[in-house]
Amino acid sequence: MLQYPNLEQALKYHFGYDRFRPGQRQIIEDALQNRDLMVVMPTGGGKSLCFQLPALLKKGLTVVVSPLIALMQDQVEALRNNNISATFLNSSLNSYKVRSREEAILNGRVKLLYVAPERLLSERFLPFLDLVNHQVGISTFAIDEAHCVSEWGHDFRPEYRQLKSVRKRYPQVPTVALTATATDRVRSDIIQQLGLKQPSIHIASFNRQNLYYEIRSKSKYAYAELLELIRETEGSAIIYCLTRKKVDELTFKLQNDKIAVLPYHAGLSDEERSKNQTRFIRDDVRVIVATIAFGMGINKPDVRLVVHFDLPRNIESYYQESGRAGRDGEPSRCTLFFNFSDIKTIEWSINQKTDPQEQLIAKQQLRQMIDYAEGTDCRRTIQLGYFGERFPGNCGNCDNCRYPKPMQDWTIEAMKFLSCVARCKERFGMLHIIDVLRGAKNQKITQNEHDKLSTYGIGKDKTVDEWRMLGRSLLHQGLLEQTSDGYSVLKLNALSWEVMRRQRTVSLAVPAVQKISWEEGSEKAAEVEILLQRLRSLRKQLADEQSVPPYVVFQDSTLKLMAQVQPKSLTEFGKLSGVGSHKLSQYGEKFLAEIRAYRQEQGLIDPQDNSKPVIGLGLPSDTELLTFQLHKQGLSIPEIAQKRNIRPTTIIRHLTDLIEKNQPVDLNQLVPLERQKKIWQVLEVLGDISLTPIREQLGESYTYDEIRLVRGKWRRENRK
Ligand code: ADP
Ligand code: ZN
Repeated sequence: MLQYPNLEQALKYHFGYDRFRPGQRQIIEDALQNRDLMVVMPTGGGKSLCFQLPALLKKGLTVVVSPLIALMQDQVEALRNNNISATFLNSSLNSYKVRSREEAILNGRVKLLYVAPERLLSERFLPFLDLVNHQVGISTFAIDEAHCVSEWGHDFRPEYRQLKSVRKRYPQVPTVALTATATDRVRSDIIQQLGLKQPSIHIASFNRQNLYYEIRSKSKYAYAELLELIRETEGSAIIYCLTRKKVDELTFKLQNDKIAVLPYHAGLSDEERSKNQTRFIRDDVRVIVATIAFGMGINKPDVRLVVHFDLPRNIESYYQESGRAGRDGEPSRCTLFFNFSDIKTIEWSINQKTDPQEQLIAKQQLRQMIDYAEGTDCRRTIQLGYFGERFPGNCGNCDNCRYPKPMQDWTIEAMKFLSCVARCKERFGMLHIIDVLRGAKNQKITQNEHDKLSTYGIGKDKTVDEWRMLGRSLLHQGLLEQTSDGYSVLKLNALSWEVMRRQRTVSLAVPAVQKISWEEGSEKAAEVEILLQRLRSLRKQLADEQSVPPYVVFQDSTLKLMAQVQPKSLTEFGKLSGVGSHKLSQYGEKFLAEIRAYRQEQGLIDPQDNSKPVIGLGLPSDTELLTFQLHKQGLSIPEIAQKRNIRPTTIIRHLTDLIEKNQPVDLNQLVPLERQKKIWQVLEVLGDISLTPIREQLGESYTYDEIRLVRGKWRRENRK
């Protein structure tokens, strides 16, 4: 048997990564021993590598079965960008192309072949496969999205069932099955249906540590909050809505607010859908608003925000859909907007179901979803618990852990509420009870003479929303019941009576005021950010030249490293995680040049080169002088930026440095005098510190740019 002493080396050489993700190494070792494998990893866990690296290390061809053409193309593109010989065969190719690819395979020039199951099983293809097996050998069958084999999974594909026959035809070739399915039932189905032989089973944790989970109430400000979330997100976002109509409405609103956004739903033509999808994947638009029809088969690893603008049907779908964020392991956000009327809408649609069994399951699932949304425990504990995984809580990366809601004693209010339910003879729903408590005047109340009850109008001091929050919490805590016959009539139970007899207190988690934004970066972070933007545009340009998505060139994490480390040589560049041998030779020089140009513009000097002045002192650099000339001609910052083809922030930096270097920049032209004064005052108090606390003091209406400019002058004056 061959030995591979250094798998890490092979990983770095072919894929550019420094280390394996949890589980990968063990799986790859098993694969190299030709064992059958069952790999269960959450989305973004890094499943592909588990068969791709062994494919390169083993003799022969690895055949990858994949259900969607788009997925195949993505993976093959990504592999080719690492100079790995991979190809696919599917119905999108003409017969000439098919023949030339088959030839390459038979000549042993291909390591990975992607095919759809129906092709693999076709009359014409099997003899070809025999030939391959005879001439170059088949090293492995890798079955991607293996849950498609199971009727219990969410994407059952009958063709997957017949894959077992291929297994029989080549009994000596090991099979690797991969899936992100979280349920036991589907897992055992996969093993059985694919005929895996004593497979080595690897189940990774489903905890996606890099995802921040939060629930927000869908109030009348929800749209404004959404807009802000999108604006502050650096990168791509998916917004899910329940219906096509809502998708269209929201897309329209966002477009009006100047967000680059496209819709995706089953009402669009195939052509339009795939066009919108491609533009999203290639980063031509940043946001896609979609029904849940969107997502399956989207491999985009750098989605930074997934918003559910409507309540998902169950926790499993929520986990999978929100899990499309941050596949590359970078911090990403999952936000769910939720309100009472969402529940009503879903309940209504459940009641339209005719099969009582289906209805029951759907109701249970909705119940769990509501518990998740209204719960005050760590979101991860609830989610992972749903998949049978125990999680101790305190994750530090969900809203409940970061902003625990303060508990308040609401015993008196609970007593009022419950006794009102009793007085109304347990025959009404929540909204009516609240109407009675708040002393509303309507027909239902007068008809039932509920305005004569002692509880009529005793709850005017609380809003409808507050009472509703209490009512829902009582249901949650099991201190009150609700019928599930479609009328949602409130009923008391033994615990309700304990509350009314004052034998039990009631606490309520009151929503804390949440900070909308993430913590703001320091100034150093802002600087890195500027370089990152430039590297992003370079990446986009290189990607467009080859018509591939930008992440195929480099992943976000690698770009970030570049901006932070700012390598100066190819050797340094090659050490970054994500830079393999091929990408180093392909792109290294180009990115180094961009970094160098940035450093020069910033006046940052490299150690061996001490001819240039340090920032803030001495004479202006050439590029600063160019900016200065245009400024003196009266051009505004955006105009200078456009003329020089540099980002406006860089121009501001030039001007700031020019001010510090005592050049006659007309500050009044850049920042109104009144605002200069305010900023100056704060600087006098706080001194020369980073921009963030200064802005915090001034308020959001002041921009970092304004502060930066005025601080330049302040520094100059205070140096004297
Ligand atoms: P899955 O199929 O499990 O959803 P992928 O195989 O698409 O996940 O991998 C998710 C992302 O993680 C990809 O962008 C991939 O390049 C990256 N990745 C995989 N393994 C590693 C690793 N060892 N180090 C860094 N990034 C990795
Ligand atoms: Zn948590």
